Amino acid sequence: VKYILVTGGIISGVGKGIISSSLGVLLKNNGYKVTAIKIDPYLNEDAGIFSPYEHGEVFVLDDGGEVDLDLGNYERFLNIRMTRDNNITTGKMFKHVMERERRGDYCGKTVQMIPHLTDAIIDWVERVARIPVDGSSDVPDVCIIELGGTIGDIEGMVYLAAFERFQRPALKNNLMNVHVSLILHPNATGEPKTKPMQNSVRHLRSAGLIPDLLICRSTDNLQPHLREKIAGFGLVDLEQVVGVHDVSNIYKVPLLLEEQGVLEAIIKRLQLPAIPDTVKRH
Ligand code: ADP
Repeated sequence: VKYILVTGGIISGVGKGIISSSLGVLLKNNGYKVTAIKIDPYLNEDAGIFSPYEHGEVFVLDDGGEVDLDLGNYERFLNIRMTRDNNITTGKMFKHVMERERRGDYCGKTVQMIPHLTDAIIDWVERVARIPVDGSSDVPDVCIIELGGTIGDIEGMVYLAAFERFQRPALKNNLMNVHVSLILHPNATGEPKTKPMQNSVRHLRSAGLIPDLLICRSTDNLQPHLREKIAGFGLVDLEQVVGVHDVSNIYKVPLLLEEQGVLEAIIKRLQLPAIPDTVKRH
């Protein structure tokens, strides 16, 4: 299984969930089997007793798991059925590690965030990514991992530390980093501002994660000069900058991504087998 890690910058609600689902749609429509994991870096064990005023309704999975609404997006966009383990929370991970500690699994060692919690996160991800979710018994080709919250949050740090290991040469082609950030357009300045985005990219890099795609959320179309500027400061190539403006219907987002060559970028980056001709759409 190969992984796509989707992180977000500047604000929550930037569109990470929709973009994660849309990346899945592109892959699935082209014959790849896709699954997803949502990471919610809060200390609650699950979303079961959340106030609906804060988080909207809870999404209930077939196995009774009470999880974040994003899992509902994935099930609808990708026509898959997931398990409660497809939603990781920090509360769940801590509990898992603490239980192992009480059982003596760590043989008396000092249990630490790195490597014990980070190892537990990666083991969990690798186990869950292999669970078939489309009704067949096939192991998925790609697992999309959405990290909730924004880059720089203290809650998210341990996950960035966990995924940093994929920068090792032997694992480099197993994880693609997609960073979704916001281009601000304050009325008073009259021009789009990229500085907050520059800062979130810097944060990501300082956590050891190099962006493979920078997805720019904005009210309007991303202008060419802005794309060049973002590529320049983000130290990425022009085709790694992808614009996703506000659309009237979120089901248009996969098309926006496809038009900008995102499917080809994923196939190349993760070295996926070529699309079989029988499922190729164009
Ligand atoms: P996040 O996962 O970053 O919190 P979501 O993907 O849940 O963000 O999106 C937040 C809200 O913005 C949702 O109501 C979603 O429907 C809407 N949204 C996301 N992307 C777009 C877009 N390109 N155009 C219009 N609305 C969008």
